[in-house]
Amino acid sequence: MLIVQKYGGTSVGDLERIENVARRVARTKDEGNDLIVVVSAMSGETNKLIEYAHHFSKNPSPREMDLLLSAGERVTSALLAIALKEMGYDAIALTGRQAGIVTDDVHTSARIENIHTETMQNHVGAGRIVVVAGFQGITDKGDVSTLGRGGSDLSAVAIAGAMDADLCEIYTDVDGVYTTDPRIERRAQKIDRISYDEMLEFASMGAKVLQNRSVELAKKLNVNLVTRSSFNDNEGTLITKEENIMEQPIVSGVALDKNQARITLRNIKDEPGIAAKIFSKLADENINVDMIIQNVGQDGTANIGFTVPENELEHAKRVVEEVDDTAVIEYESNIAKVSLVGVGMKSHSGVAGTAFSALAKENINIEMISTSEIKISMIVSEKYGELAVRILHEAYGLDNRS
Ligand code: ASP
Ligand code: MG
Repeated sequence: MLIVQKYGGTSVGDLERIENVARRVARTKDEGNDLIVVVSAMSGETNKLIEYAHHFSKNPSPREMDLLLSAGERVTSALLAIALKEMGYDAIALTGRQAGIVTDDVHTSARIENIHTETMQNHVGAGRIVVVAGFQGITDKGDVSTLGRGGSDLSAVAIAGAMDADLCEIYTDVDGVYTTDPRIERRAQKIDRISYDEMLEFASMGAKVLQNRSVELAKKLNVNLVTRSSFNDNEGTLITKEENIMEQPIVSGVALDKNQARITLRNIKDEPGIAAKIFSKLADENINVDMIIQNVGQDGTANIGFTVPENELEHAKRVVEEVDDTAVIEYESNIAKVSLVGVGMKSHSGVAGTAFSALAKENINIEMISTSEIKISMIVSEKYGELAVRILHEAYGLDNRS
């Protein structure tokens, strides 16, 4: 097998941990695999470099920032290769440029455009362990570029896609993706397999195991992604095509997002173009509107409610007040969004009913509802958010009973 392994900042956080990673890499090699290892900077390094730059300038030039920031990953890649060689393994460290990673020239948030795989291919072919500095590439002008914060996941997925690897393992300090946040429900279980689309829903709701962009890229390039811990030998979670998941549970997990706020507009004119006006203005201002409900109009007026991220509430307020000065506008930030995610919902009816009954039984009021093919989201009062998660987690049989 050709495996791409990516080790995040905490996994390479100090010299001892780099040594530990070297042992893990060596073991994978001993098992007969070809191996490309992508590394992050040691945890805290990138922030430190940013601080250094800010010592001299509030607005450091993006080109120079990229040269600076790419250094963190170079350090780790070189150290890991040195450690592996010392253990008797043939390893070689490559910068993004040396690995053939070409990006556009949007400094500090560049996109990978192309990967010239010859160099990596030659080294892998010669039996060498290739260690690549993540998070970076080179523009066609020859300038160093970086991919945006957390970007070494992207490097790993893109390399796995370009090299047609069998597996891309992303190592962090958590065991994988859970049916819900174990801090909210300790009976949460680790999920063995999950589809790209489900993972995207989890990630966009704040499950921080994987960056959304890398899941999207994995889906596009059809890369089998595993997220697992570098601190133990637990299996992790495989993120893959829906077809590869044999037993699809109806609901794979329950997510909670407390950082939502609601804006309600009462008494707005019930006529064509009003929603267009409000929501295009919000979109122009880059405000992320999530759920929207409008009631059936009465007496020529209607009410519209929608949610935005809590930290965009003030901005959204200003925008809305400008658009319609006759409407009565209410704000509420003590709300939480609870979502059920599962591809199994596509082929099952009655999923929503079960959720609504379970919450009703505990007297939790559902204030807004939205559904998609693989997700049902409900807004409840913030103080009931965690309770709602536990109730739904149990209602769908997700609790770990062992
Ligand atoms: N070191 C970079 C960052 O902290 C990239 C990464 O770790 O993925 O954002
Ligand atoms: Mg990271």
